[in-house]
Amino acid sequence: MVKNKKQYCDLLVIGSGIAGLSMAIVAAEQGLDVIVINKEASLDESNTYYAQGGIVSRGKDDTPQLLIDDIMQAGDGISNLEAVTILATEGPALVEEFLVKKVGVPFSRSEKGELAYAKEASHSSRRILYSKDTTGRQIEESLIQWAGKIEHIHLFTNYTAIDLLTIPHHSTNPLSLYREPQAIGAYVLNNAAEKVEMIFSSYTCLATGGLGRTYLHTTNPACATGDGFAMADRAGARLINMEYIQFHPTSLFHKDADGFLISEAMRGEGARLMTKDHVPFMERYSPLADLAPRDEVSRAIYEEMISRGDAYVYLDIASYTQIDIKKRFPHIYEKCLSLGIDILKGPIPVVPAAHYSCGGVQVDSWGRTSLKNLYAVGEVSATGIHGANRLASTSLLEGLIWGVKAGQHIAAHFDKEKLYKESEIPAWQPPEKEEEVDPALIQQDWLSIKSTMWNYVGIIRTIKRLERGRADLSYLRNRIDDFYRRAHLAPMVLDLRNGIQTALMVAEAAFSNRNSRGAHFLE
Ligand SMILES: Cc1cc2nc3c(=O)[nH]c(=O)nc-3n(C[C@H](O)[C@H](O)[C@H](O)COP(=O)(O)OP(=O)(O)OC[C@H]3O[C@@H](n4cnc5c(N)ncnc54)[C@H](O)[C@@H]3O)c2cc1C
Repeated sequence: MVKNKKQYCDLLVIGSGIAGLSMAIVAAEQGLDVIVINKEASLDESNTYYAQGGIVSRGKDDTPQLLIDDIMQAGDGISNLEAVTILATEGPALVEEFLVKKVGVPFSRSEKGELAYAKEASHSSRRILYSKDTTGRQIEESLIQWAGKIEHIHLFTNYTAIDLLTIPHHSTNPLSLYREPQAIGAYVLNNAAEKVEMIFSSYTCLATGGLGRTYLHTTNPACATGDGFAMADRAGARLINMEYIQFHPTSLFHKDADGFLISEAMRGEGARLMTKDHVPFMERYSPLADLAPRDEVSRAIYEEMISRGDAYVYLDIASYTQIDIKKRFPHIYEKCLSLGIDILKGPIPVVPAAHYSCGGVQVDSWGRTSLKNLYAVGEVSATGIHGANRLASTSLLEGLIWGVKAGQHIAAHFDKEKLYKESEIPAWQPPEKEEEVDPALIQQDWLSIKSTMWNYVGIIRTIKRLERGRADLSYLRNRIDDFYRRAHLAPMVLDLRNGIQTALMVAEAAFSNRNSRGAHFLE
């Protein structure tokens, strides 16, 4: 627990998923004093924890060039070749050295004890390392265990970053205007005490994950409210490609499912999509029918839902597969059964869901943003690898590589000299008269954001929808900003403020881009 209102460290990492933890481990092992914060009560709560499929490595008949080609194709022509090349050439060795040998992630192995590789859609080679259907959980737990043993890493849960501390913005010294703008830490909310504290750091890193929670349907957990995108924007860092939101075709539709992912591998094993009255429909949309690419399937499901006025479609595996469903999909079988859906006997209600943000805070090959001493790693960042769309299972690897590279870069160029006096930076000023927060208002605002994003900035976009979405979100943002300035600070207020700002950024980017490409599908 942070005891004082001020903390000091060499590196502040905001977020404890694969990207943040990898960075913290590397920097701390080189002697830097590192603070990692997570706004959730549990350190492992993150998108990383819920990743099911796996992480890209290098299969037996694989080459870096094959992986580069697959990623460039998925990115629809606008991936950054330099970043893609780093991922394809450096990634597999890092997986082996860092995840397998060092932190000891228990990836699935063959009977001979060799690492087992899976193949996923749009990959030309069998190259995905996995751990049954809970890969993310195994990675996250191994990293936490390793980080917990390092003396220089201080891991704090229940701490929400509110805003990056930057100069000249936060400085009371008028002469600071002549200095190069830079990040110097963050204001953070101690959730339990409901008090704002300051963390001063020589370097700061956003590792805050994605923004899926700004959509009505998403596979992302509650922490993915887009905080890092919004904080970077408020601090003046550059963001790119925000319109490219990848949707996953099949998440479980049930009031208590909370976006639980139904693996695409089910369709690979024969499962078919059908309307609520049990009529298969994918043949009408693609010659590949149920095996069409992720985007096409998402759009087809969305079309069926919109044209029929249905809230979901069915995915039927029970009637179409020869495999032992329970053995192949144990986690999905158990989860559905716990909600009263027996996938051995009947179809699964599914809906597409916002899954991954391809864009974000622009970074170079070392994770540096456009703002001095601010780094960004993982899903919140945009290395350019994903271009207009993401190749499955590349995001965990991107988080690992850029986490490690950013940690190495800071350690190698560490400069402790402060170009400001701490006394220039004022403590947090709460409003004179704090307003109590009414959760009903917050819930309603979230509902408006999520349905606006889903209906107007969703899977199939039109200029008219985007124009309407942008206007509605812009009105909401003004109202929420006004409320934020008067509110007693609580995590739910911060989530809402970041959620609306990030949603609006996505809507603005989508409205400005008139080229239908990749995950930005304009009708
Ligand atoms: C269901 C699901 C399945 C997936 N399957 C795969 C897969 O098989 N392969 C693959 O490569 N990718 C997969 N992905 C994507 C992948 O999991 C993510 O892109 C990746 O884990 C992101 O890692 P990260 O470290 O950037 O962020 P995260 O793992 O999301 O971590 C972000 C952290 O930041 C914290 N945080 C956020 N805001 C604040 C704040 N204001 N203050 C303090 N802390 C904050 C969060 O609580 C969280 O701990 C999947 C995603 C989901 C949701």
